[in-house]
Amino acid sequence: METRDALISANPGAVEIGGYLGEKLDACIRNGVMAADFACYITPFRDKTDDGGEWGGEFWGKWFTSAALAYRYQSTEMHRQILDQAVEGLMSTQEADGRLSSCRQDFGYWDVWGRKYALLGMIAYYDLTGKEEVLQAAARAADHLIAIAGPGKTKLTETGLSVLEALASCSVLEPVVLLYQRSGDEKYLDFARYLVSLWSEPNRYTSKGIRLLEDALAGVAPSKISSRKGYEMMSCYEGVCELYRATGEQQYLDAAVRFGQAVREKEIMIVGSGSSAELWCDGAARQTMMLEQPMETCVTATWVKLCYQLLRLTGDPVWADEMEISLYNALLGAMLPDGNWWAYFSPLVGERIPSPLQVPLVKSSCCVVNGPRGLLTVPAWSVMSSVSGPVVNLYASGNWKYTLASGLQVLIRQETQYPEADTVTLQLEQAEAAFYTLRLRIPAWSENTRVEVNGESVPCKPGRYLEITRVWHDQDRITLVLDLRGRVVMAPGDCNHMAVMRGPVVLALDSRAAAPEKLNLWLLHDQMRWKHDEQLHVDYVVPEEPAWEAGHPLRVELTPCATKAEGVWMAFEAPFLYRPTHFFNQQARSLVLYDYASAGNAYSEENLFRVWLPQPLFMNAAFPQGAWRVLYYSSEERPQPPQAVKR
Ligand SMILES: [Zn+2]
Repeated sequence: METRDALISANPGAVEIGGYLGEKLDACIRNGVMAADFACYITPFRDKTDDGGEWGGEFWGKWFTSAALAYRYQSTEMHRQILDQAVEGLMSTQEADGRLSSCRQDFGYWDVWGRKYALLGMIAYYDLTGKEEVLQAAARAADHLIAIAGPGKTKLTETGLSVLEALASCSVLEPVVLLYQRSGDEKYLDFARYLVSLWSEPNRYTSKGIRLLEDALAGVAPSKISSRKGYEMMSCYEGVCELYRATGEQQYLDAAVRFGQAVREKEIMIVGSGSSAELWCDGAARQTMMLEQPMETCVTATWVKLCYQLLRLTGDPVWADEMEISLYNALLGAMLPDGNWWAYFSPLVGERIPSPLQVPLVKSSCCVVNGPRGLLTVPAWSVMSSVSGPVVNLYASGNWKYTLASGLQVLIRQETQYPEADTVTLQLEQAEAAFYTLRLRIPAWSENTRVEVNGESVPCKPGRYLEITRVWHDQDRITLVLDLRGRVVMAPGDCNHMAVMRGPVVLALDSRAAAPEKLNLWLLHDQMRWKHDEQLHVDYVVPEEPAWEAGHPLRVELTPCATKAEGVWMAFEAPFLYRPTHFFNQQARSLVLYDYASAGNAYSEENLFRVWLPQPLFMNAAFPQGAWRVLYYSSEERPQPPQAVKR
């Protein structure tokens, strides 16, 4: 029995986002997704180039699904033509028996993974256009896969790279269930159930089996599940979400939610992503260390996509809080400022490096085509619908066209500079009065939030949706003031490291605004107070171990900088204490902190940054030099953006 989602995505063309975020979405679409030379993504299917273990087959579908999201958001004729041509090009490579593969031989290392992405792309196209022939082409491609990998044939759990324990192949679950939902043909559901049953069996690659359901339900840490490969593992749970949506069987939802909770608790670092060398790494606890190849952009984007699934299924705003943090930090931090390229890895200390050209045939890399798949989900989850009315998850300037169950149109107009500024106003435009519930996400970090409806105060709680049920009229106005006071985040298990957040935005020290000096500085938070000694005539601060209560973080006063370096979105002065001895010559100093996505965004070896601030912070050693070598240790030279590549 199919289930109904708790929250439904915004309709295509219903969302128009402005301001800083709108510019970033536009840049990603204009200079990245829609500027791509998509003909080269078809080449691996046409010329069967992946038999040697390459993964050219993933690019068409990864790129196409982001192009489909771009078209949902900006439904222009030009975007439509690009989608039409790309689908036509891919379908022209389909073989007579339905086979759609970038390999000559079945079950090359990335064969099924590439087929999965081709299916996802074609299904996304069908969803936007309703073109039956494309759904049928996808069904024929899936039928071919079932013919070679159904019961009694090759087990997908024994295909692909053994080191990944077949996670890449197994993630084909998602489009198989999507086909069942769209065609109603039970054979796809049967194959999906068969594939999931294989996860519980020992196989040639792993004697204990992949155990994605059992381990998730038992609360096993992600770094102890299967092969630890973050991106592919989350992709399998995206399929589990679809299987729940299709069947209503509780164990699938429970497994997906428990897994999401475990990732959030054990792996997700302060900026909203995880992984080291593409693997789960117990990263939440280890994030103050110099991790090798931290936070693959494929992991960031897929984490956002998994959170989006969990938000739709459960309606729990914790997943929207997570997406907002990933969005403003890990995701936008990984996109190059003009939106045409992405980083592969994003550190919390060191420097930013653009992704090298990973697969020259397709002029791209896995992360370059995956970043937009995360970023372009934003319009869909920004304002969603519930059975009783609109649910506002994202605060950004813009317009949202919302249709109530009665058919009445409501225009939600947001005016705000959030998250730079703390105030958001929402104005409703509707032809007649109507009774419905408007939900507003009150982020968990917003300790003191003020909400007014037409000037009247409404109480709310952090970490919940504020539900306002009433008769709404044209021009009704809601004002929301979020708590953007600077807050100190303690590193897990490590009080020696502190970081500063302001709302959903992580702040970082950037070498463009912090010159090396022979100083030891302590973050001057609200539990460090100046004392006066009458005898010695000195003012001093003793940096005692801070005590804090859950829900009441230490606070730090942040002052917006009057001027900012070029290309920097947010810059704040934060107070620090210079403390040469116990009591004498102590002084307050201020250091400039940038938002994490802007920190290091000159992408040069001179532009270094740091999120976690050791206490004290030795300003002469604040930035490690040459940290790019832990990102790309196989390179002799620091990778440069592949400008020679015309996209
Ligand atoms: Zn990647």
